[in-house]
Amino acid sequence: MPKVDKEKCVACGTCVAMCSDCFKIADDGKAECTCGDDCKCDCNIDDVISSCPVGAISK
Ligand code: SF4
Repeated sequence: MPKVDKEKCVACGTCVAMCSDCFKIADDGKAECTCGDDCKCDCNIDDVISSCPVGAISK
């Protein structure tokens, strides 16, 4: 399951725009991954990871 490093996240919203099934902006204003290990969305998580401007997403 992808993880967001909230210390790095600048809340740009790119990951949410690319995959709203997996990411949302949490109450703290930072992104978080909402999918579980059985995530079946059709986004390319590697593309999302490489699109984060601060490299905050890992899997
Ligand atoms: S793309 Fe990266 S910096 Fe932007 S909201 Fe997502 S995790 Fe945060």
